[in-house]
Amino acid sequence: MISRRKLLKRLSTLPLIGGVMGAGFPVSSTLGNTLDEAPKRDLMKEMGIRTFVNAAGTYTAMTASLMPKEVMDTIVLSGTQFAMLDEVQDKVGEKIAKLCHAEAATVTAGCWSAMVLGLAGVLTGTDKKKISQLPNLEGMKSEVIVQKSHNVGYVHALTNTGVTIIEVETVEDVEKAVNDKTAMMWFLNYQAPDGKINHEDWVALGKKHNIPTMIDMAADVPPVENLWKYNDMGFDLVCVSGGKAMKGPQSAGILMGRKDIIEAARLSAPPRGGTIGRGMKVNKEEILGMYMALEMYINKDHQKEWQSWEDKVDHVAKAVKDIKSVETEVSVPPIANHTPYLKISWDPETIKLSRSELQEKLREGDPSIEVISTKENSISITVFMLRPKEEKIVARRIQEELKAALV
Ligand SMILES: *Cc1c(COP(=O)(O)O)cnc(C)c1O
Repeated sequence: MISRRKLLKRLSTLPLIGGVMGAGFPVSSTLGNTLDEAPKRDLMKEMGIRTFVNAAGTYTAMTASLMPKEVMDTIVLSGTQFAMLDEVQDKVGEKIAKLCHAEAATVTAGCWSAMVLGLAGVLTGTDKKKISQLPNLEGMKSEVIVQKSHNVGYVHALTNTGVTIIEVETVEDVEKAVNDKTAMMWFLNYQAPDGKINHEDWVALGKKHNIPTMIDMAADVPPVENLWKYNDMGFDLVCVSGGKAMKGPQSAGILMGRKDIIEAARLSAPPRGGTIGRGMKVNKEEILGMYMALEMYINKDHQKEWQSWEDKVDHVAKAVKDIKSVETEVSVPPIANHTPYLKISWDPETIKLSRSELQEKLREGDPSIEVISTKENSISITVFMLRPKEEKIVARRIQEELKAALV
């Protein structure tokens, strides 16, 4: 029989860690003692999959974030043990709920799936017939109220359950829109500044009419306090992504809030089949990995992390700002991906390089680098997804390319 230690060692050589290799960092310094040796196979390399330095951010298309060693260890270890899926969710949910001031919580397959399952729970309650019937809403409520400025692509998570979105702008609109078909009121956190109704009034309207309220705050940590702020404020359901700044598994998220709704929501999720959520599976590895990432995120020194982001942005800015015609500007979005962004712009008469040409040169360089497209003759970068010391690579490469294109 293979020993646990050997098995762990063998498992730790799986391609899970593939993405961390390739930029010239020794395995040991990136992953600590997860690996006693380099992995035997690097499938990314074998298959010619391009890996890159991520100076863009937590974009789904770019696989969003890299999990810290402790999260990877949790995944590797839990991957060697069987457990009952519901028991894992029960125990982890209880802990998450405590950390985030919620009555209950469950790990979902991302924030999007948290929205589907949360709304499913609202619509069906614990009625088995209704649960198996979704998205056919016969005998159920069928409308969700959303502010016009919040009505963006993400509402598809809601309409997946069969509901219709009812757009409103003002408090009076809400009063008029509420009827006996109203199932829920949904709030998109990052659009709060563009809406006419603020968080508190939204929650108050929900309570007044006895309609559950849900908030999507997928990408809205930091600040860390947001993890409990909206539970404290009285939203009945709070949905957040696990694989963005929290660096949990990319295919995990959290649904938290009212106990009765979370319990109902779980009835539409695996291990139960014949449900709308059967395809939104998270297994023990992701559930426990999500918990580890959440705990680590809450406990980290956020001030220190912020300082390191500022230092990195500053390092890149310094490397380019003395090049003729180059201008740099640091900004921080108030909500969603709340982290320093550096915009680098230049005069196309002085530096003969279009934005897409620069992007392509950075992409084709060694190592490959991804940045954010902004307007013509400028790019933006973030540094919160960089691995240690990569800001030096980013600074050097952008400097090189800008200088090479000076007329
Ligand atoms: C990323 C995002 C989602 C989807 O989250 P996943 O965790 O990828 O499922 C939903 N809403 C908003 C506002 C987002 O930014």
